[in-house]
Amino acid sequence: MPPSPPILRVIEREQHPISRKNISKSALRVLYRLNEAGFDAYLVGGAVRDLLLGRQPKDFDVATNATPEEVRQLFRNCRLIGRRFRLAHVVFGPEIIEVATFRAGDDDGSGDREMENGRLVRDNVYGTIEEDAVRRDFTANALYYAVSDFTVRDYVGGFDDVGARVLRLIGDPESRYREDPVRMLRAVRLAAKLDFTIEAASAEPIARLAPLLAEASNARLFDESLKLFLAGHAERGFELLERYGLLEHFLPDVATALALDASGLCRQMLVTALRDCDARVAEEKSVTPSFLFAALLWPAYAHDLQVLLSQGHDLAVAEQRAADRVTLRQGSRIAIPRRFSTPMHEIWWLQSRFPQRQRKRVFRLLAHPRFRAAFDFLELRASAVPELREEAQWWAQAQSVPSDTLAAQLVGKTAPARARPASQEPGTEGESPSRGTRRRRRPRKAAE
Ligand code: ATP
Ligand code: MG
Repeated sequence: MPPSPPILRVIEREQHPISRKNISKSALRVLYRLNEAGFDAYLVGGAVRDLLLGRQPKDFDVATNATPEEVRQLFRNCRLIGRRFRLAHVVFGPEIIEVATFRAGDDDGSGDREMENGRLVRDNVYGTIEEDAVRRDFTANALYYAVSDFTVRDYVGGFDDVGARVLRLIGDPESRYREDPVRMLRAVRLAAKLDFTIEAASAEPIARLAPLLAEASNARLFDESLKLFLAGHAERGFELLERYGLLEHFLPDVATALALDASGLCRQMLVTALRDCDARVAEEKSVTPSFLFAALLWPAYAHDLQVLLSQGHDLAVAEQRAADRVTLRQGSRIAIPRRFSTPMHEIWWLQSRFPQRQRKRVFRLLAHPRFRAAFDFLELRASAVPELREEAQWWAQAQSVPSDTLAAQLVGKTAPARARPASQEPGTEGESPSRGTRRRRRPRKAAE
């Protein structure tokens, strides 16, 4: 698609609210130094968009006509990263300013494709500012702020789109999604984060092209999943994933669980988990990928576990296999690194230990390194399953009393508490060991 040459609109200082006060000192230093050396340099991307919206940018990116090597010569605290698209990172203590040379042509944002048709492609990578603007994803992400005259430069109509809180793909939406299917997730994520609407022509192809997510790299989809769910707007992001038909291609097991969720328990548990995540981010508390994925994939795990138990496997074997199966299936879309999938499995496996109240087992569980996460997870399950509330309260109390008091309470406890019927768990609807693997199928609820 040969794009018509973009027309520059210059927005003068008095027509926009961006003030140097709100720009990181490090970014300003980089911009001034590049300008002094005779290069063009702009603040670009999410930072300009966020400043226009009165939000504090997460990071400050710079675009310039200096090559990465030229940038390196200007800054001692600079290292070059990336392969096909080399980027300069200028490091100021904990802050990194990413400096990218204007690029021509398509870019999937991952910055590390080196080969095309088995051949190194390093020629023709750099381009003009106009080319750099039109290779970006949304108009709102393609604005350039210059410290030399305090103007905002707009080649694609992004300034008005930010004003109207609209996400609009640059160029033909279908081809832009085909070039890089992750842009569909970015649309949903940015709409959730910024409270923007996805403009109709940019929204229309998403449901149709959603299956293309299967072709995206599962490592990149993992990164996207964290930005989507652990950045404080998970609940809204999830709603939009469902509304645009992306969920079944991004988290297929979650979509299946929700399709079978006649009682609404799954949804209730998921929404609670996502809301808790958002609340923790708002309070600047830590949120972990292990806990997030444990919650998202719990119904699938509980379902597979029930099936394996009904086939006569021992609990330990069934737990191990169910966890492996779910992780393997999800891994075809989102590659959850082992450092997160291992704790996720532990969180799941510890759930079957909570009903056991013999003294030795209680103390062993309390001392388990994953106890706290597993207990938080029990509370999450209990928020959807009333039968679990007594159990959660019991373990809350067990943690709050001195250990000798707890030991005294547990004297004589040798038999495990009566097991609960497992069919009340989200994901196990219509399943029980005695009923085998028969499934009660419900028609899929239409998306909102
Ligand atoms: P956030 O505030 O969440 O970081 P962002 O828009 O800054 O949002 P980044 O992933 O940091 O997102 O990307 C920086 C910029 O790079 C974007 O604003 C956009 O201009 C460009 N970009 C990122 N990913 C893509 C992509 N897949 N296709 C085209 N351009 C992209
Ligand atoms: Mg950014």
